[in-house]
Amino acid sequence: MEFAAFADRAATIEAESADTAITECVTDLLADAGDDLATLARFVQGRVFPAHESTTLDIGPRLCYEAIARAAGRNVSADDVEARLAERGEIGDVAASYDFGGQRGLAAFGGGGADALTVAEVARELTDLAAVAGDGSQETKVDVLFGLFNRCDPDEARYLARLVLSEMRIGVGDGTVRDAVAAAFDVPVDVVERALQVSNDYGYVAEVARDEGETGLDAIDLEVGRPVQAMLAQAGTVTGALEDWDDVAVEWKYDGARVQVHYDGEAARLFSRNMEDVTDPLPEVVATVEDALDVPAILDGEVVAVADDGAPLPFQEVLRRFRRKHDVAATREDVTVRLHLFDCLHVDGEDLLDASLRERHDRLAALFDDGVVSDLWLSTDADEIGEVEADALEAGHEGIMLKDPDAAYTPGKRGKNWRKRKPDVETLDCVVTGAEWGEGRRANVLGTFELSVRTDDGYAQVGNVATGITDAELDDLTARLEPHVTAEDGRSVAIAPEIVFEVGYEEIQTSTTYDSGYALRFPRFLAVREDKTPADADSLSRVERLAENA
Ligand code: AMP
Repeated sequence: MEFAAFADRAATIEAESADTAITECVTDLLADAGDDLATLARFVQGRVFPAHESTTLDIGPRLCYEAIARAAGRNVSADDVEARLAERGEIGDVAASYDFGGQRGLAAFGGGGADALTVAEVARELTDLAAVAGDGSQETKVDVLFGLFNRCDPDEARYLARLVLSEMRIGVGDGTVRDAVAAAFDVPVDVVERALQVSNDYGYVAEVARDEGETGLDAIDLEVGRPVQAMLAQAGTVTGALEDWDDVAVEWKYDGARVQVHYDGEAARLFSRNMEDVTDPLPEVVATVEDALDVPAILDGEVVAVADDGAPLPFQEVLRRFRRKHDVAATREDVTVRLHLFDCLHVDGEDLLDASLRERHDRLAALFDDGVVSDLWLSTDADEIGEVEADALEAGHEGIMLKDPDAAYTPGKRGKNWRKRKPDVETLDCVVTGAEWGEGRRANVLGTFELSVRTDDGYAQVGNVATGITDAELDDLTARLEPHVTAEDGRSVAIAPEIVFEVGYEEIQTSTTYDSGYALRFPRFLAVREDKTPADADSLSRVERLAENA
């Protein structure tokens, strides 16, 4: 296909606003693509390379302006191009506003002909350009781009400029191409979707859909060495997770950088969340994996920078390692990193994307000795989950992840099956009006504390808190509260209102359990408010307001 024909189709797509019309245009484009199918499936969403490759053109805007300026003629400078961009706001418009025709020679007058740019040629030139490196590479890149712009009519220039700067923006997203491939080659959308997830390459999937149909797409598997999109999490609450799932899988949320580990049976390669190869900057992670594994595998995890005592450091420290391509040894001394693996996509020829998290995690745990694989707790109890969170925070990590233990691994999806627990929004200052002695090892300390708020004529209970409290804190709280005990009934004690706790919670619900009519969900102890007396604690009317505004 001539590049002008692609530009023409892109202009038509851009002029459409309805999703269905856009999908139809893309469907037609793919159906008519012939040998250019793979390239067009990428170009139409502004990609030059497959999504699993981290290859970039490495062309900054300035370089592009220079190429446009040179193609525009002697009187135009890169500064002029930039000034015009400031006026018009969009590089495609700017490129289309110059007349490159004068430079094109006689072939231009024929419209197309020998000198007409083709889609294949643009793809080839840009691929070669991406490979240019070393001294003078910027000059070479400008030369190549100039050569391309020089042969463009305004519409071609518009879409070439956008493609080069990754600013295609004609309204075609990943979902559009998926639907268009399905429609163009008459294959089910979910089959295309799966093939895209495992191959991470729209061009390849489009070709297989056309040439081999559903059977061909079904046969596409994960490949060690070809990274897939990471599964993502959305914000969620413990109470929501407990409502939605029979068991909740709980893990610490490590504050580092995502890595996908690909081990081919001999060597490990590591990829960042953007598919960048980060093998070289992380030799000790490579060694951990290569020492432990003896079968091919694709694994998912987080690399965390740690201090000498093993405590996690802010994630920026890991990024320093990622960026350090040279002199790894020096940075390695500077920043120590640890690998925490939490998922397993493939082991020894077997794809596990469709397996449940329970199974994937078991398979992962079987590959390593202790310490590398994340602990995963299955729980149906908010207090127990609260303990895991308190431990995670105490160990210096970010909080917890809540996962559906029966869910599959869905690459690239920010779905409901993985949730990062939302931080508490507002805290409440509650008066402690009762407590319970612990059991067993904790029989000498008060363990569960009754939380109340002020009312017009006293206090009303809004919940109990038992989580988020370390053993040392329990000792301290017992010492503070025991002198105020007014009555005992079995393990329960009544306590005179003296001490104020600051507590976090996920939400406030109306409830018949407590005399206030409200209940804090997932309450956690944060601190004793030494600066507050019960008269300064929160009131029932504030609880009512918070519940209403939620
Ligand atoms: P966020 O970046 O805030 O959207 O949180 C999701 C990120 O947390 C993931 O992409 C991972 O990089 C990271 N993470 C840390 N620990 C875990 C874990 N146990 N399971 C899944 N993701 C985790």
